[in-house]
Amino acid sequence: MKKALIIGGGMSGCAVAHQMALVNPDWDITVIERGSFLGGGVKTHWRGGHPFTFGPRHFLTPLPELYEYLNSVIPMRRCQEHEFITYIEPDQNYYSYPIHADDISRMPEEGQIRQEMAEALQMQGAANAKNFEEYWTGSVGKTLYSKFVDGYSRKMWQLESNKMIDEFSWSPKGVTIKEGPRATWDTAISAYPIAANGYDDYFDIATQDATVLLNTDITDFDMDNKRVRFNGEWQQFDMIISTISPDTIMNNVHGELPYVGREFMTIILPTEFAFPENVYFVYYAGNEPYTRIVEYKKLTQHKSDSTLLGIEIPSDKNKLYPLPIQSEIARAYQYFSDMPEGVISMGRMGSYKYIDIDDIIFQAMELAKQIKEGGVAHPVPVYGSDKLALNLLSKMIAQGTTVQDIEAGVKLK
Ligand SMILES: Cc1cc2nc3c(=O)[nH]c(=O)nc-3n(C[C@H](O)[C@H](O)[C@H](O)COP(=O)(O)OP(=O)(O)OC[C@H]3O[C@@H](n4cnc5c(N)ncnc54)[C@H](O)[C@@H]3O)c2cc1C
Repeated sequence: MKKALIIGGGMSGCAVAHQMALVNPDWDITVIERGSFLGGGVKTHWRGGHPFTFGPRHFLTPLPELYEYLNSVIPMRRCQEHEFITYIEPDQNYYSYPIHADDISRMPEEGQIRQEMAEALQMQGAANAKNFEEYWTGSVGKTLYSKFVDGYSRKMWQLESNKMIDEFSWSPKGVTIKEGPRATWDTAISAYPIAANGYDDYFDIATQDATVLLNTDITDFDMDNKRVRFNGEWQQFDMIISTISPDTIMNNVHGELPYVGREFMTIILPTEFAFPENVYFVYYAGNEPYTRIVEYKKLTQHKSDSTLLGIEIPSDKNKLYPLPIQSEIARAYQYFSDMPEGVISMGRMGSYKYIDIDDIIFQAMELAKQIKEGGVAHPVPVYGSDKLALNLLSKMIAQGTTVQDIEAGVKLK
């Protein structure tokens, strides 16, 4: 029996262990996780009787087959009514996010905003944008950009300027100004597990045919020989599927990949609900240290006289969000192109892409299929909004563009 190692027991490690068991049951799978539980940030924790995850982990997808798969393993509740709102301090007001056309008449600068939007449309600024700031000002004009996006994005990515963000096909989740329903996800399936423990049963079911080693840190990596060291011993495998940062498994030979992390705190309030009926998340676009507050019982449907809020504050203490900067993405691609046959990188850190749970399940399905058919492409493709970036960067690799070229300003022909 051939042996495969999955590095990391987060959502990706579990999803790929499950797909391997379903599609390639002839492989002997080991999952190694340094933490004391499976699931990473998607694992449910409890405080004051309230279930919560580290950040919302709401399942969203435009692909019904991904929903059907997850729903068949852990029954899901559809929550199509889900809305986001953003607090704008200068207006002392809350508005829908994505920016809703009907809210513009409530804004103090309505006339100026409408004029800027008309100019942006006429100049087709977004189509020619070279960075995130140009994309937004070219879509909605300067006033809306500075109200909703400028401060939020710099805070989110811990950057001085949004001009530094030059890979933005993931943003802003497909729409700049929304019309019609205020529900954020009226074009995608929106769902959350019904069970009080959220996704936790999924992690156990998905890995039931694998050997799972918790509290086990891989300390040394030798990808050329498909070997890793843990518990003081080198172990060799026929295949390594890594869900952790590619620089780590390749011993940082091209330098470290940057990430933004999050500090997370919870607060319990003595009220049944804190947010308006369909509002699950509130975003903060100004100088507040936090980016988002989530009312968890909206997702979990937990019944209580009190409510638990989760507050997310950007930090450099953990690695959660790969930076959307082309020179860093190109650095990640150098790692991918150095990986020998039989070493595959996937998942949010493993792909160095801002991808969600649905994309991770898609990757796990694709990877298991590719392994069965032979000929694995890596990083494993995503279906998601950044497909374009993947193609663009594949082209860069094909043309031999290096990190140094990108840093020196060489653009793709
Ligand atoms: C705050 C936040 C909110 C989010 N909200 C949503 C949402 O609402 N909806 C959605 O679809 N997606 C959401 N996401 C994204 C989604 O949850 C992630 O993309 C997904 O969970 C990533 O899973 P992963 O397995 O790729 O990575 P991880 O969960 O990071 O798993 C990697 C695992 O590897 C382990 N590991 C690391 N190094 C080693 C080592 N040397 N040896 C052994 N193990 C190691 C880690 O302990 C970890 O458990 C959110 C992400 C964040 C950060």
